[in-house]
Amino acid sequence: MTIVINMREGPDERGLRVAARLIRNGKLVAFPTETVYGLGASALDETAARRIFEAKGRPPDNPLIAHIAGMEWLEDLAREIPDTAWKLAERFWPGPLTLVLPAKETVPRVTTGGLDTVAVRMPAHPIALELIRMSGIPVAAPSANISGKPSPTDAEHVVDDFYGRIECIIDGGPTPLGVESTVIDLTGEKPLLLRPGGLPLEDIERVVGEVEIHPAVRGEVVDVAKAPGMKYRHYAPRAEVVVVEGNRAAVGRKIDELIVEFRGRGLKVGVIAMDEHEADAFFHLGKTSEEAARNLFRALRELDRAGVDVIIAQGVEEKGLGLAVMNRLRKAAGFKIIRA
Ligand code: AMP
Ligand code: MG
Repeated sequence: MTIVINMREGPDERGLRVAARLIRNGKLVAFPTETVYGLGASALDETAARRIFEAKGRPPDNPLIAHIAGMEWLEDLAREIPDTAWKLAERFWPGPLTLVLPAKETVPRVTTGGLDTVAVRMPAHPIALELIRMSGIPVAAPSANISGKPSPTDAEHVVDDFYGRIECIIDGGPTPLGVESTVIDLTGEKPLLLRPGGLPLEDIERVVGEVEIHPAVRGEVVDVAKAPGMKYRHYAPRAEVVVVEGNRAAVGRKIDELIVEFRGRGLKVGVIAMDEHEADAFFHLGKTSEEAARNLFRALRELDRAGVDVIIAQGVEEKGLGLAVMNRLRKAAGFKIIRA
């Protein structure tokens, strides 16, 4: 049975107490964060962490992020904490930044996907932060979607994927950012971007200087153990996705050509773009990269619901949150990219 707790008006003390008790007892609780909804369980309880993988159908070598509610909690999880980690944590936590650090032995290897490193973040959403604080333990919480599907940015997406299969869903309304956290690996010589996300890379570089970008971020194929999450198909709706990139006007013309071509083949066509297009279904991404980030996953899920066979997505500029948006779009497309 799944309890759905309504906190659309804000954190509710009694509901949070129920959910925190479930976490302490090794149960699964989905909750909103400022990025996307997380599927939470105790990060220190091997059996609970294993249930996250089972519920999501997540490959066991794709590690979980441990969510904390106080800066001091970092020392319970990480064996070594370099100055850059403290600097970034002080500047950006609570917030959409995940730090990868050497793991303490007390962190179950189920949680870390078998690695000797642990990913940690302090979320900024009041419901998430209060739930973790009340649980009193770090909470492993990957995105609350069936593995491979678009991430959930509203409670209804979590209900679609998990109702009846987890103990609790906290409905906190739509998530403010809409893309997952930025993941930075601090175990090497230089900070390394493993996943672009809700905190722009430019903001991080202003604090720690140049950050290297893992080749997988731009879609170059990897089998590197450091970035295990990157080798799997991700964010994919049922429909096939193609991304059109290049000069904005040329992209617009190419999208119109593709609509005609696909419809000529009898396919139902959906478009996700910042500029208007006539198709069987159209989802407006918004005008800025922040709006695009907020709308992207909802757009993918809604076009699936509209029953389109193919989704054409307009590429956006890779600045600010645009880097995260393009990363998600290219993965959703399985790197089927058309240059206009
Ligand atoms: P999700 O929670 O579904 O947004 O995915 C979490 C992502 O964080 C994973 O796919 C990894 O790319 C990354 N991650 C988590 N832990 C580690 C780690 N120890 N080392 C490297 N990357 C990690
Ligand atoms: Mg995910």
